[in-house]
Amino acid sequence: MGFSRQRRFAFMCWLATACFASMPGSILLAQDGRTSDEAGDQQTPLRRYENLLISGKIVWLADAMQRLFGVPTVSEARKRMLALETDDGKLFPLAEDLRGRSFRKDERLRQEEITLLARRYEGAPVVQVVRIFERDGNQLRELDYWCEICAIAMFEDKPCDCCQEPIELRRRAVDVTKLLRLARPLGHAFSPMDDRQS
Ligand SMILES: [Zn+2]
Repeated sequence: MGFSRQRRFAFMCWLATACFASMPGSILLAQDGRTSDEAGDQQTPLRRYENLLISGKIVWLADAMQRLFGVPTVSEARKRMLALETDDGKLFPLAEDLRGRSFRKDERLRQEEITLLARRYEGAPVVQVVRIFERDGNQLRELDYWCEICAIAMFEDKPCDCCQEPIELRRRAVDVTKLLRLARPLGHAFSPMDDRQS
C-alpha cells in the first residue's frame, strides 16, 4: 500500500510540475482568451492585451482611494480588492486569480517593494498578475512558493498540493534584460522610462 501511495504521490507531483512548467506558455493560452488558471471549459472572447512591468507596493484599493483621493470608502469594501500603488501614486487594481490572491493570503508580499509582470487587457480597468518580483535596487528576484520535499512550485501560500506540508516563499534572481523583452515598463522601476500610457 505504501508503494502505491508513493507512486500516486509521484504522479501527482509530476502532474503539478508539468502544469506549472507550462505556465510561461500561459501567455499563449491567454491569447485565445482564456486565463492560465481557469483554462478549462470556459470560453471567453478574444481580447487584446499588453504585458507591463509595474512597480510599487501592493495595497488595499479602498484604503488607497481614501488616502490618495479622499474617497470615503465604506468599511465593508476595505479588503475587497487589491491594487498595486506605484511610487508616484498611480493605482492598478488586480484581478484576483491564484496569483492575485497570493497577496491577500501572504502579508509578507504586501510589505515588499514589488514589481509585477502584469497583463492589461484592452477595455479592462484591472490588471492580471503573471509574475511577481521583489525589488532590490536595480535587481529583481522572482517570488513564488516551493515545496522542498516534492520539488514543485506553487503560486500562493498553502499546504503543498502534493504532500500537504508547509511550503516556503522562494526568491530567485532574474535577468532583467530578458524581462524587458517580454513586457513594457511603466513608471520608475527601469530605464528607459515609458510612461505615456500609464
Ligand atoms: Zn510537497
